[in-house]
Amino acid sequence: MTMRQTDTDADPLVTIVGGGVHGVHMAVRLFQADLIDPCELCIVDPVGLLDSFRRKCHQCGTVELRSPFVHHVATDPFSLRDFARACGREDELVPSTVGAERPTTSLFFDHADWICDRYDLESSHTEARATDICENRQTVEIKTNEGHISTRWCLLAVGHGGSFTYPEWASELASTGSATHIWDPSFDPNAIDEMSSVGIVGGGITAAQLATKVAQLPGRDVVLFARSPFRVETLEASTDWMHFSGVTEKLHAHPPASRAREELVSEARYDGTIPPYVFRRLQRALEEGRIELEQSEIAVATEAGGTVVVTCQDGSAYCLDELTFATGFGSPYDNELFHHLRNESTLQTGYRGAPVLDDETLRWMRQNRTPSRIAVSGVAAQQVLGPFARNVIGARRAGELIVEFLESELEVEKREVTP
Ligand SMILES: Cc1cc2nc3c(=O)[nH]c(=O)nc-3n(C[C@H](O)[C@H](O)[C@H](O)COP(=O)(O)OP(=O)(O)OC[C@H]3O[C@@H](n4cnc5c(N)ncnc54)[C@H](O)[C@@H]3O)c2cc1C
Repeated sequence: MTMRQTDTDADPLVTIVGGGVHGVHMAVRLFQADLIDPCELCIVDPVGLLDSFRRKCHQCGTVELRSPFVHHVATDPFSLRDFARACGREDELVPSTVGAERPTTSLFFDHADWICDRYDLESSHTEARATDICENRQTVEIKTNEGHISTRWCLLAVGHGGSFTYPEWASELASTGSATHIWDPSFDPNAIDEMSSVGIVGGGITAAQLATKVAQLPGRDVVLFARSPFRVETLEASTDWMHFSGVTEKLHAHPPASRAREELVSEARYDGTIPPYVFRRLQRALEEGRIELEQSEIAVATEAGGTVVVTCQDGSAYCLDELTFATGFGSPYDNELFHHLRNESTLQTGYRGAPVLDDETLRWMRQNRTPSRIAVSGVAAQQVLGPFARNVIGARRAGELIVEFLESELEVEKREVTP
């Protein structure tokens, strides 16, 4: 593995922490804007570029993306469609009842890999986990589990940073390994025994997809524990929020990183919903008896000799070989890195640890109210960009804002060093 040296000549100009959709898109934008040379960029991620998103799609059996084909990691909106045409894969652009066609996951990732190759992003990738970040006057110092990186600018794109949630009653089961979370990196749906009885807890898209995937093998008994009625929505929020203007002013009217902004974002997000095409597959599996639906809340679940016994409030009980939680991500501000930054750095945070970001540039503000050399893209920028901040379209908007400010900052820095 290559780790950057602290020698100033080898220091990257820009370091992106996180090589997911947001990190990769940011890198593409930096190269397209001709702001940096490949040797001036470092992308720090403990896993391969886009691997975390790829793994999650595999874990819950995502076959097609929820978003349209113009949402991808390149900058030209039609890049993915042109790629599909050039490869004779137009049939992987799946018609949608509302809006544009959606790519299959394999088409989305093949196109993304092609873009990564085109810009040779792998040569900028350093396999490491950032554990701490602090700012000096002209640099940002990034501590990782593999060494230390000194950089002029840092872009944070860590997604949820590995945080996910269990219901409170399940914490003991989770700690003893008797139940798993779908986003646990070790969870693999293909490892579930062909004859298992499987319980899945959750009522949104992730649970629905996992249940239909697991129920494809007829030898399995699959129970879906969904205590609330299903809600069907095509997208994760109203399309008004996709334009990042007008409606985002509602957010900006409140102080940054405030409770009011956080509440507006969660009201706007259709969390726990299922898009129509996933709901139809679930409905079919329920009608055919391949999945049993249990709507009564789980009262107690205990481990008993290799199985988990689940008792619901209506008295029904199930003996399961596997219990998997599809109960969502944790707070985007509570992953290890953000936690550390909140406690140890001079960066300003607000309600529930949300970063105080500048609305125009996504730069993280210092406690002294000046903008830092660290900018944020992804779910942690949702109080600025709204409910689609975490999505591919959010990466595109964050990319525009960040590249715009970096362009002028780098221009100023260049003028300062050129006599
Ligand atoms: C199953 C599924 C389907 C989805 N479908 C869609 C869709 O159709 N359309 C859409 O727009 N959105 C979709 N989303 C939302 C989706 O999560 C985002 O679009 C996208 O994956 C978020 O990208 P990201 O880069 O912010 O996060 P991630 O993809 O999670 O990438 C973050 C990266 O940061 C790395 N990282 C974390 N902590 C550190 C650290 N301390 N140091 C270094 N690296 C670190 C991780 O290893 C990871 O590689 C979907 C999400 C899921 C889970």
